Amino acid sequence: MKRFNGQFTQQEALSPEAIEAAVTVLQHGRLHRYNTLGDELSETALLEVDYARYQEARYCLACASGGYALHIALVASGLKPGDVVLTNAFTLAPVPGAIRNAGGDPVFVEVTDDLVIDLDDLSRKARDTKARFLMLSHMRGHLVDMDALMALVDEHDLILIEDCAHTMGANWGGRKSGSFGKAACFSTQTYKHINSGEGGLLTTDDPELIAQAILLSGSYMLYERHEAAPGPEQFAELRYVTPNCSGRMDNLRAAILRPQLADLDRQVERWNERYRAVEKTLEACPGITVPMRPEKEFYVGSSIQFLLDDLDGEGTEKFLSECLRRGVELKWFGAAQPAGYTSRHDSWRYACAQSLPQTDAVLTRLCDMRIPLTFSVDDCRLIGELIAEARGAI
Ligand SMILES: *Cc1c(COP(=O)(O)O)cnc(C)c1O
Repeated sequence: MKRFNGQFTQQEALSPEAIEAAVTVLQHGRLHRYNTLGDELSETALLEVDYARYQEARYCLACASGGYALHIALVASGLKPGDVVLTNAFTLAPVPGAIRNAGGDPVFVEVTDDLVIDLDDLSRKARDTKARFLMLSHMRGHLVDMDALMALVDEHDLILIEDCAHTMGANWGGRKSGSFGKAACFSTQTYKHINSGEGGLLTTDDPELIAQAILLSGSYMLYERHEAAPGPEQFAELRYVTPNCSGRMDNLRAAILRPQLADLDRQVERWNERYRAVEKTLEACPGITVPMRPEKEFYVGSSIQFLLDDLDGEGTEKFLSECLRRGVELKWFGAAQPAGYTSRHDSWRYACAQSLPQTDAVLTRLCDMRIPLTFSVDDCRLIGELIAEARGAI
């Protein structure tokens, strides 16, 4: 039997430039972002400038994690304890976690077969709950029709926060994912598009929001050492009323991120080549449906999702073990118990229980696979064939 022998959790090594930048920081020893000499700009402040430019945003804050960025984006947007926050039912645990951390009440919105938020359900729930906030998770890199979404955001006067953990580098009709909402949050955790182990980035055009976010992240009144930020007058009052919830980024992580950011668009092309190699085989495979990707969506194929047709739980388990026998490690969002990152709304019991039949029907059929750049395009072709072979064996 043909078998794939790669590791689904192995990312690429850091580039010589990133390693050199890290060594420079280690040699001077000024790892804390506010530990600067004279008018030196820290690597963290420079990363914020670079990322604001990449994202075409006015302001940027680098912080401890993507989940932390989501949390402070909500607080800095004026969320009060008990406020309802609408969010997709198909997302990753840090999203409802951030809503909870900010004191909000997550209300989950159904997702479609194409793995994006269901706009009819969003409209209904926005009306029924009178929610002020929508945390839109571009989960697994799938962009909803952003034109239609923004029309609903306007109609219901929602404050939109975008979770762009999987859409760094993506765009909708040429407009960067993350530039639609009041704020956008990104992760630089190892399995995302640039890798510092842990880390987060928050972008916005709103001077008051970023000032609050900077103070929340723990600026020790040193906000003047931020470059991708408004002037000191914006902080004059806020600094007395905004708590320090320490969650800064450090210069070592920022230093290794900057060269990766400079290389991001090239990496995106490499991901997409690999994604399309797997997708092509799966699209031709009976019993498998690959989500439709709209014309206006420019995605980053760092992972692939597909739905299984006509298989019950037992059949699915059998399919997954046939894949595993061939060295292909898939995640399944339909298992009774959460495993790894596949937890779902009914495992987040700190949120009140909600009925989401449409989402449940999608998750029961949903398989997910990471595409690390350590895989070659040929590896990806082989993986597609092996999945098709396993599906045929059921
Ligand atoms: C990774 C991820 C986050 C944030 O993750 P951190 O581990 O906190 O950096 C948020 N949303 C989604 C959808 C993610 O996959």
